[in-house]
Amino acid sequence: PELINQIAAGEVIERPSSVVKELVENSLDAGATRIEVDIEAGGARLIRVRDDGGGIALDDLPLAVASHATSKIGSFDDLEHVASMGFRGEALASVSSVSRFALVSRTAGQEAAFRIEVDGGRLQAARPAQHPPGTSVEVRDLFYNVPARKKFMRAERTEFAHIDDLLKSLSLARSSVEFRLSHNGKPVRVWKAARDEQAVLQRVAEVLGAEFPQRSLRVEHAAAGLQLSGWVGLPTASRAQADAQYFYVNGRLVRDRIVAHAVRQAYADVLFHGRHAAFVLYLELDPAGVDVNVHPAKHEVRFREQRLVHDFLFRTLHEALAQTRA
Ligand code: ADP
Ligand code: MG
Repeated sequence: PELINQIAAGEVIERPSSVVKELVENSLDAGATRIEVDIEAGGARLIRVRDDGGGIALDDLPLAVASHATSKIGSFDDLEHVASMGFRGEALASVSSVSRFALVSRTAGQEAAFRIEVDGGRLQAARPAQHPPGTSVEVRDLFYNVPARKKFMRAERTEFAHIDDLLKSLSLARSSVEFRLSHNGKPVRVWKAARDEQAVLQRVAEVLGAEFPQRSLRVEHAAAGLQLSGWVGLPTASRAQADAQYFYVNGRLVRDRIVAHAVRQAYADVLFHGRHAAFVLYLELDPAGVDVNVHPAKHEVRFREQRLVHDFLFRTLHEALAQTRA
């Protein structure tokens, strides 16, 4: 099973930020209201994610890091030839197979916390530990046993920048959750839970720049089972703005061809052709209308009714942006 876990890890755990993504998403799934991410050496030395979520009961601890075996793959080399591999329920198994891994957790009903450790895929017995209700996951020495992967890790600053970008996007996705990020012991970000629209906009300004609220328009529109809300920035000549484009579908950051086209068209049509604009947009729709599991690590989605989504986005944004001409 260790080889299989390492293969799964190769599929989705590309770099330290991929680990952070899996761990923070688990914390969000566990209903955390506060998530702390501590990084050392760009994540190569340590990734620690601590939450105040529901925790994992003692009996379930070994299951959390267990994986589903697959019979389809015989060697590491076959990995490249497998078109799509399920990844659900395998993040912790994968991460723990390519790191020195520890998980400490306590449910609200438990008196004590328990800690399990996995070293290169070998699970140690659970031991009592100190922890408030919630979960901490520690990933040390990522890829220490997979030299081929370790080679691809970039400079500390680069890997940390990826983690910072990821946290920015997650913090915009879940503004009711408090996020903290530190690097080498120094606090880098503190995003307090936003309780009203003003506080949400403040978080948006922290991520997209203090001038963004003044240079953007509020969008809010619903039709045909689709609901779009957020802020569209007025375009500038600054390329940096193009990096600050956040589009969420049912709370997940998405990079989608259909979405990108509709947004680009709306801007181009209202005369901002060739310029760059930042935006934060949230599209909500019936989950049955969209497949978000096209690839677990990429930000792809597939809409069931592509044309409908495209035209809804285009029209809504066009109308909002057209106000700037009035
Ligand atoms: P998945 O999230 O797809 O179920 P993971 O390998 O990421 O698979 O996690 C395995 C299981 O461990 C989760 O289903 C959940 O039950 C438990 N788990 C992981 N992280 C946490 C956490 N931070 N809080 C509570 N439970 C967790
Ligand atoms: Mg998970």
